[in-house]
Amino acid sequence: MPNPLSYLTDQLENWRQAGTYQRLRVLESACLPVANFDGREVIHLASNNYLGLADHPKLVEAECEAARKYGAGSGAVRTISGTMSLHMELERRIAAFKNVEACVVFQSGFAANAGTVAAILTPEDHIISDELNHASIIDGCRLSKAKIHVFRHRDAAHAEEKLAALADTPGRKLLITDGVFSMDGDIGALPQLTELAERYGAIMMVDDAHASGVLGRNGRGTVDHFNLHGRVHIQVGTLSKAVGVLGGYVCGSRDLIEFLYHRARPFLFSTSHPPAVAAACIAAFEILEKEPERIEKLWSNTRFFQKGLHENGLSTGASETPITPIMVGEAAMAHAFSRALFEEGVYATGIGYPTVPQGKARIRTIVTAAHTEDVLSRAIEIIARVAKRMGIVAHMAAN
Ligand SMILES: *Cc1c(COP(=O)(O)O)cnc(C)c1O
Repeated sequence: MPNPLSYLTDQLENWRQAGTYQRLRVLESACLPVANFDGREVIHLASNNYLGLADHPKLVEAECEAARKYGAGSGAVRTISGTMSLHMELERRIAAFKNVEACVVFQSGFAANAGTVAAILTPEDHIISDELNHASIIDGCRLSKAKIHVFRHRDAAHAEEKLAALADTPGRKLLITDGVFSMDGDIGALPQLTELAERYGAIMMVDDAHASGVLGRNGRGTVDHFNLHGRVHIQVGTLSKAVGVLGGYVCGSRDLIEFLYHRARPFLFSTSHPPAVAAACIAAFEILEKEPERIEKLWSNTRFFQKGLHENGLSTGASETPITPIMVGEAAMAHAFSRALFEEGVYATGIGYPTVPQGKARIRTIVTAAHTEDVLSRAIEIIARVAKRMGIVAHMAAN
């Protein structure tokens, strides 16, 4: 009998031929600014550990203490018996931080987005969504079976066209955007979209995965950054990026959160965080509130790094945040660039189709507050040298 999974083997072979097959790089140290991957010490520009909290002693200590006191696991889903006092404390803490009525924590940002969109909409409803929104939003939209209307990236006028066309159509309307876009590092059109949501009676939702801990006072996100307090109905954030641990959360009205307690499927059907995770997140929020200088350092490092790349003729695309793509063009070239950089001591991931559109492949870098300018200077020098050798600077000039 032929192997019924042989088509997978064929697909893998195609990717190898195309140069887009990716082996997993294995991290053998903590997630440090200079880290060990695959037996090599490299400048680590591939994490989302914006504030360097992933190995912060206070978080690690909080984890150990919680594990000793409450054990390794919670034992159940939240709605059965897996709601621990630490989960409730974390939710109260985040709600206070974000200045909203209530908060629910999910196992991941992915679960928060997909679980929320799928829970609050039905097939009779409509979603108006930025074309570059994150996969977890797209999956939530699909799971909800609501009708999906995609507007051009950050194009509020196009979003308005969609809303206007739906004005007489029954069903709820959800307007949704990433706060910061994960592949380009540009900021969503939240102020304009919020105004549209108000004008057309739509629900406004923002996914602040890359804005949490990065934008707004003490990292409160895009709603704070744009001073839109009380006007965005649903704010999603992640605990897996700047917060340095794992998880996602939804902030909004008390009734929204109570509804999600009853209907969000990842909340109902998947076990809650180990107590250590909740404790580490609580410690991280304490640091966000007490040490805003970490965020300042993140931004000054970002300016330093991007300026250095520009001075070497490299394009960082549309980036307005610490997410710094270095535009390359073709996917195979991006992966080759990434591999060559790794050999020279810099780890930055190559990203191509289907994660980004054809012809817009790039390596994606993120500096953190933990990098020093010395280390970043070294990274700039290596990136510029390898890019030149591979003709990448010339490629951008030709465009
Ligand atoms: C990373 C990311 C998520 C998912 O967050 P996790 O906590 O890693 O599951 C959701 N939305 C966006 C925009 C992201 O970049």
